[in-house]
Amino acid sequence: VSVGILMWRQPPKHKEWKGPGTTAHFYEILLGRCYTYTQIVRPELRHTDCQKIGKAFTSAFLSKDPCGSTEQDYRPLMELTTQTVPCDKTLFWSKSSELAHDYTWVQRDMYTLEDTLLGYMADGLKWCGDAGSSEMNYQSCPHWREDCSNNSVSVFWNTVSKRFAEDACGVVHVVLNGSISNTFDEKSTFGRVEVFNLHPEKVHTLKAWVMNNIESVPSDSCSSSSVNNLKQILKTRNITFVCQNNYRPVRLIQCVKNPEHSSCRYNL
Ligand code: NAD
Repeated sequence: VSVGILMWRQPPKHKEWKGPGTTAHFYEILLGRCYTYTQIVRPELRHTDCQKIGKAFTSAFLSKDPCGSTEQDYRPLMELTTQTVPCDKTLFWSKSSELAHDYTWVQRDMYTLEDTLLGYMADGLKWCGDAGSSEMNYQSCPHWREDCSNNSVSVFWNTVSKRFAEDACGVVHVVLNGSISNTFDEKSTFGRVEVFNLHPEKVHTLKAWVMNNIESVPSDSCSSSSVNNLKQILKTRNITFVCQNNYRPVRLIQCVKNPEHSSCRYNL
C-alpha cells in the first residue's frame, strides 16, 4: 500500500496575515526583559511578579482574533504595572526613536515609554494569537495598514501610550524629527494619542526639541507648518508650547556618532 496519501500538505494552522509573525521566543524575551528591568535597571521594583505580568500579557491576545483587539483585553496587564514617572521627566518622541532613547540612556532621570516596564518589555517585539488556537502565531501577524488597525500590537501601544500621557505632569518634552516633512504627524501615536491624553490641569507646558540629522542643512523646523499645527492643537488644549531647534544636549548625542562633522566642531 502506498504511503503517498499520508503526505498531503497540511492546511495552515493559523490564519495568514500580511505582516511578520510573533517574534521567536517571544515569551522568554518578555519574561527576561521583565526580570532585567525589575532586578537590575530599577531594583526598587524587585518585588514585581514577572510571571504574573507575563501571563497577563499573553492572556490579552492568545485565543483571540488578532484583528479584534481592544483596550479592555490589556486592562488586567495595565493594572499589574503602574509606574510613576516624576513630573517634568516624561519624554515623548515621534520618528526619532533611536535619538530619543540614546538621550535617555545618558540622561537617566528622563523617561520615554520604553524606559518604563511595559514599554521596555515590548519594544521591538511582534505578537499575535489566533481565535482558533491557544498558541501564538509565529508565521504571520496582521499588518496595521494592510490587514487591520485594531491588531494586538497596535492596540497595546495605543493603550500604553495613552496611559503614559495621562500620567505625565509638569513640563513634558518631545523629540521630533526636523529632517522629514511631517515633523509633527497627526496620524502618529504622538499626534493621535499622546497629545490628546495630556491633562492640562497637570501638564502646563510641552517643550518640543526639533532635531535635524547632522548631515542635513540646518533649518528652522520650529516654524514649519506641521509644528505650527501642533502649536495650535496645544493652544486649544490650554497647554503652553515651547519649541527649540537642535536642542544642544541632544545635538551633542548626535555628535558622538559624527564628531568630525563641521556642526559638531564649531558653532554648536
Ligand atoms: P513613529 O511614527 O516613529 O512610530 C513608532 C513606531 O510605531 C513605529 O515602529 C511605527 O511603525 C509604529 N506605529 C506608528 N503608528 C502605528 C499604528 N497606528 N499602528 C501600528 N504601528 C504604528 O512615532 P509615533 O507613532 O509618534 O510613536 C511614538 C510615540 O508613541 C512615543 O512617544 C512612544 O511613547 C509611543 N509609542 C512607542 C512605540 C514603540 O514601538 N516603542 C510604538 C508606538 C508608540
